[in-house]
Amino acid sequence: MQYISTRGAAPVLDFEATMLTGLARDGGLYLPEHVPPMTTGEIAGLAGLSYEDQAFAVMRPFIGAAFGDEEFHDLITRAYAGFGHPARAPLKQLAQDHFLLELFHGPTLAFKDFAMQLIGQLFQAALGRSGERVTIVGATSGDTGSAAIEAFRGLANVDVFILYPHGRVSEVQRRQMTTPAEANVHALAIDGDFDTCQALVKDMFNDFDFRDEVKLAGVNSINWARVLAQVVYYFSAGVALGAPHRPVSFTVPTGNFGDIFAGYIARAMGLPIEKLVVATNQNDILHRALSSGGYVTDGVKPSISPSMDIQVSSNFERALFDAYGRDGEAVARVMAELKESGGFRISQGALEFLREAFASGCTSEEDTRATITRIARETGETLCPHSAVGVHVAEAHLSATPMITLATAHPAKFPDAVEASTGLRPTLPPRMADLFERPERVTRLPDELAAVQALIRDRIDG
Ligand SMILES: *Cc1c(COP(=O)(O)O)cnc(C)c1O
Repeated sequence: MQYISTRGAAPVLDFEATMLTGLARDGGLYLPEHVPPMTTGEIAGLAGLSYEDQAFAVMRPFIGAAFGDEEFHDLITRAYAGFGHPARAPLKQLAQDHFLLELFHGPTLAFKDFAMQLIGQLFQAALGRSGERVTIVGATSGDTGSAAIEAFRGLANVDVFILYPHGRVSEVQRRQMTTPAEANVHALAIDGDFDTCQALVKDMFNDFDFRDEVKLAGVNSINWARVLAQVVYYFSAGVALGAPHRPVSFTVPTGNFGDIFAGYIARAMGLPIEKLVVATNQNDILHRALSSGGYVTDGVKPSISPSMDIQVSSNFERALFDAYGRDGEAVARVMAELKESGGFRISQGALEFLREAFASGCTSEEDTRATITRIARETGETLCPHSAVGVHVAEAHLSATPMITLATAHPAKFPDAVEASTGLRPTLPPRMADLFERPERVTRLPDELAAVQALIRDRIDG
């Protein structure tokens, strides 16, 4: 299996190199040259398998010769061993045709563990073989960083540096990043906001001398291996509700478009998904783009669902690549226009292509709060604010086709917002109850590329 860039001007890579690289050198994102289809019989055969066996069957065709079958199966088993639920991704019923897919039973209580725990294992296996070492650098608004640190802590051949905006992540998120004691974990509190952190990371990747010197590797949501790991739970949920014999729909709380793009890949592989509904909070660029055709940035408004407070959805570029007939030059052109003028108009043909697969909706802060309150009262299920955005948008798209809304984080990760809406403070699962007693370790840095680069050089030499 070969991987190509959405901008058509980066080297073609195999799975392992794609995973270790992250961002393509032409600024684009890697995608498989062809999406391998699954037959109806193969999809039906997933029913009743363990999550791990389903994961093996769904992902195997994408990885080529990177890992042997037995090794790959072992790595998957290890990745999900630390999850706090035997189903890994259990379904709960909210209403007659509305289901919640709980993706928050991993070690850091957000869906990002599904991908990050697996790529931690895959990186370790690949680097163990080659003897190479890499420096992982990532920016986070909270969940990506904690999931990455949890996945890479203590692994040989890897240092992980996470940049988060000082004072702007929740206390649970911060402690998940600052309490691991392993020497290869480096939490960096940056004076600035999430965009500041992201810009610093981008600049490091675009500094090719630095990138090669420290062997920079990226694990943010544009890493193809992360998208791939997320394809699995669309299949596990779909077959649990009768696919491939009846179709299902999904609603996905969306920021960077990574999670919902995994659903698009599942659909392209043959899972009968009627609609993929994009659910945004008040940062609604994706909803506006799909409704009006204008992809126009408009300043981030902080919300109670902070992991979706995003202006530019990096992974949307992957969907655009298909929508523009896999024309890398056309994608490079609209991305240049976005960079220069803050927006672009999606062509009519591309918009029709996108609307065939995707619907969308957005949720005000008030509706998010009201949804948390009402769902707790009606069903007993406590939603985190991100999941509440999903449930609210899903309710406007219900039909006779079962709707599956992704619950992306555990309510205890956002206790203030949840308590304000339900009157009850959600508690952490017992396995992490001592989070508030563990000592913290963090380095505070200014918004200066040179300072961050100097610290990274210093730490990996020492
Ligand atoms: C990251 C995150 C999202 C958004 O996911 P994308 O893949 O960026 O669309 C939604 N909810 C939670 C809790 C998250 O951590």
